[in-house]
Amino acid sequence: MEFISKTAAVNLHSVVFDFDGTLSLIRKGWQEIMTPYFTEVLMGTPGAGTLEDENSCAREFIDFLTGKQTIYQCIRLNEEVIKRGGKSLDPLIYKNEYHRRLLEKIEYRRKGLADGTIQPAEFLVPGSVGIIECLIDHGVDIYLASGTDEMYVKEEVALLKLDRYFKDRIYGARDEYKLFSKAMVIQRIIEMNDLHGSSLAGFGDGYVEIENIKEVGGIAIGVATDEERMEGIDEWKRQRLIKAGADVIIADFTELEALENYLFGG
Ligand SMILES: [Mg+2]
Repeated sequence: MEFISKTAAVNLHSVVFDFDGTLSLIRKGWQEIMTPYFTEVLMGTPGAGTLEDENSCAREFIDFLTGKQTIYQCIRLNEEVIKRGGKSLDPLIYKNEYHRRLLEKIEYRRKGLADGTIQPAEFLVPGSVGIIECLIDHGVDIYLASGTDEMYVKEEVALLKLDRYFKDRIYGARDEYKLFSKAMVIQRIIEMNDLHGSSLAGFGDGYVEIENIKEVGGIAIGVATDEERMEGIDEWKRQRLIKAGADVIIADFTELEALENYLFGG
């Protein structure tokens, strides 16, 4: 656990979790599907640069928009296509094709979890259940807000057996994408509970949720899990979470006691 700022929670009331990369690793490796696909699309335009140029362009804006709904990355792709003299398409076409490719890659995980041949722990960030139960024991309300389509988020929450904790406090992307954002969910929680700044905390592995939490004065905990090894810090994630304004960086949730002390002033 690494402290970046001196901010601490005061009367912690609600906690918002991001899902993919923060609790769930079911979709780990999604960047290895999206980046080559987007690069392929850019390479098909009349004004395409070199493979290397287009690959780094795609990587950059995908990363910058991580945490927002997938459609925003596809909207940006379409803008880049137009810039290169390509034909404008409905960004939903890109989203559907990306998702088709991603599901192909992760289908065995979803199937295995569903039929019990894979245990939830294999695709959970270590210590996830422990921190969730600890928060609930302290009487904290927990919420889930994800940029992945809500239908899939709900399915995957159940596959990881986290549905009993989050119940109906699960929010995900909608087809009418302007009706959902993490900032909107956070705003609603604050208004519903009449919360002030540091009685709200958020856990996330992306820019967007860290910024959203800091904008309302909450406590932002950056989860910089090395998704491949499932232990230790991913240095690249750590750097960008600090840049986004994270108050604390953790590798995962296994340092439960330290985390509990930090959140509840032990
Ligand atoms: Mg995430």
